[in-house]
Amino acid sequence: MWFEHLQSRLDALAAGDLTRRLRTVLSGTAPHQRVSGADGVARDLLLFCSNDYLGLAAHPAIAQALAEGARRWGGGSGASPLVSGHSAAHAAVADWLGQAYAAHIPQARALGFCTGYMANLGVLTALGDADTELFCEALNHASLIDGARLARGRVTRYPHRDVQALAHALAVSTAPRRLIVTDSVFSMDGDIAPLRELLALAEAHDALLVVDDAHGFGVLGERGLGAVEALGLRSQRLVLVGTLGKAAGVAGAFVVAHTTVIEFLLQTARNLIFSTAAPPAVEHAVLAALHLVDSEEGRERRALLAQRVARLRSGMADLLAERPATPWQLLPSDTPIQPLIIGDNAATMALSARLEQLGLRVPGIRPPTVPAGTARLRITLCAAHTARDVDRLLQALAECADERVGATA
Ligand SMILES: *Cc1c(COP(=O)(O)O)cnc(C)c1O
Repeated sequence: MWFEHLQSRLDALAAGDLTRRLRTVLSGTAPHQRVSGADGVARDLLLFCSNDYLGLAAHPAIAQALAEGARRWGGGSGASPLVSGHSAAHAAVADWLGQAYAAHIPQARALGFCTGYMANLGVLTALGDADTELFCEALNHASLIDGARLARGRVTRYPHRDVQALAHALAVSTAPRRLIVTDSVFSMDGDIAPLRELLALAEAHDALLVVDDAHGFGVLGERGLGAVEALGLRSQRLVLVGTLGKAAGVAGAFVVAHTTVIEFLLQTARNLIFSTAAPPAVEHAVLAALHLVDSEEGRERRALLAQRVARLRSGMADLLAERPATPWQLLPSDTPIQPLIIGDNAATMALSARLEQLGLRVPGIRPPTVPAGTARLRITLCAAHTARDVDRLLQALAECADERVGATA
């Protein structure tokens, strides 16, 4: 019974061109990666899909810190943070982050989680009790959606970037407490939430503002501290979640907030209390990554990244202007996430497959990750891409457009 049931569900996914496939990578994360194909043959592909925005995952200083950390601390942490898993390496990362955000959050203190997914679940389940209404942006990341589902409080969704709708929902709320929950940089669209306006609403309605800066941390701001730095925000209502497996090039996540909020999370976030702390060696590498993010080299990498984004956008604009029949649309975005909307699921996957034949890995993103009818290539750029790499992508896309690959039938 079970197996027929599961097989029919899988068949339904396949019929909608929605089957996802695990690909095995044979070399480190860099724009050039060796990937094993469906036929078992390994190919060298140029990636436009990694979130390693600064190209730090392959940085020798991080590899060295990881090795040094392993020599000093060995393998796992052995226990959850409140038992015996919280090492001096964990403490050093938290101290660095608390100090870094002191300018943006009064009495800032940081708390580490093993992943961003866990951090979001922890924050929303701990703060979103039965007396708290959660106001969630429509395009929030799956981990925020799942955190809101697990929270005891009532959940109200507001439309994408719609400050007016949120203001109205807050005004009519009768809940004793309110929590506004949003991505900073939206992971599938690349645009940025109106955080200044959201913070003003949080002030007006005595709410906390949870900001998931997974795609802003390391990328935005002079020091790379993300969206709050880029926008010059300062408030004790900010509960900031940052991830360390994307631009920081390692793994893990952190929450920075007013010390009272953090103390409450430490006492009540079940997935922190009942889960083994990250390996100390990883934290040792994270500290090296944080120093890189907030260094001259980090600044240079952010400047390079901005140049690659500009090159792709102007190249795509030319490409589409010269081919008015090509039904693709590059969404407006200033971040390294540059979504090219194709629309149809099968057309998107055909385009992605053709690009792979041309040596480029640009995965198609389909529903339910994005709304139906907006299947897309999620192009991401990183500081390690050369101008030539970007030109190669543009050339390949032009070729596909001329072959009418990715044009909806
Ligand atoms: C990737 C991502 C997460 C999850 O972070 P992990 O550390 O990969 O678990 C959370 N929020 C957003 C917006 C993300 O893109």
